[in-house]
Amino acid sequence: MSQRIKKCDAFVLKVTEYSNTSQIIQFFSKEFGHIGVIAKGTRNPKNKYYGLIQQLGNYEIVIYKKDTTFSLLKEISLIDDYNRLASNLNMIVLAHAAAELYLQLMFEEDDHEKFYILLTQFYEYLPRVKNNHILIFWRFLLRVASFLGFSLKFSQCQVCGLQNSELFHGISFVHNGFICSNCAGKRTATEHFQINESTRKLLLTLKNLHDLGSFEISEQDIKTINTIFRTYLSYHLHKKIHFRSLEVL
Ligand SMILES: [Zn+2]
Repeated sequence: MSQRIKKCDAFVLKVTEYSNTSQIIQFFSKEFGHIGVIAKGTRNPKNKYYGLIQQLGNYEIVIYKKDTTFSLLKEISLIDDYNRLASNLNMIVLAHAAAELYLQLMFEEDDHEKFYILLTQFYEYLPRVKNNHILIFWRFLLRVASFLGFSLKFSQCQVCGLQNSELFHGISFVHNGFICSNCAGKRTATEHFQINESTRKLLLTLKNLHDLGSFEISEQDIKTINTIFRTYLSYHLHKKIHFRSLEVL
């Protein structure tokens, strides 16, 4: 086998049409992280891989690996197409949002496998709950933040250590968790995101969820918490993170 022929397990994060019959595929692989691959002829109905490559699908691929440009797809076989995610609008939207996030992240080489496993676990777990899938997504985002080295902490005010959650005023991006009203008052307003009581309660329950379907989550709280996560990730990654997939919810 040539040095450059590599086999790996990978998720399809994005598929783009290319030339008359080909596709460009952004994979996230267990072994190499992000890989951009050209799949020649896969849009030709006579091609043996025609129709096989779907976004969110998990595949074993054999590629001719190039470091500075697109790699070339040689073989591909399906591990799991995750089409059970498509049975529910919320699930499919959240699964796409996770893929959208991975497309925007840069991963350290040592982290490829754990991020691959995290995405697998997220896609496996989503269809096992009946409602409130958004909570699974937020927990996924908490794990992503923790793997990237900036865990969000919800046990106390991250500045003074105060534990009375009634006095938590917002989420501090600088201090990675709740900030109490006293500490928030002494800092510039751009360092934190102010939250209301229902948002605070939701965030407090995220760390130890028991019965996922047992409570109602308002649309406004979903929007607010999505904004908190997006702003938090953007702050730490020094670039604007987007979740366009979530806009249809
Ligand atoms: Zn404080």
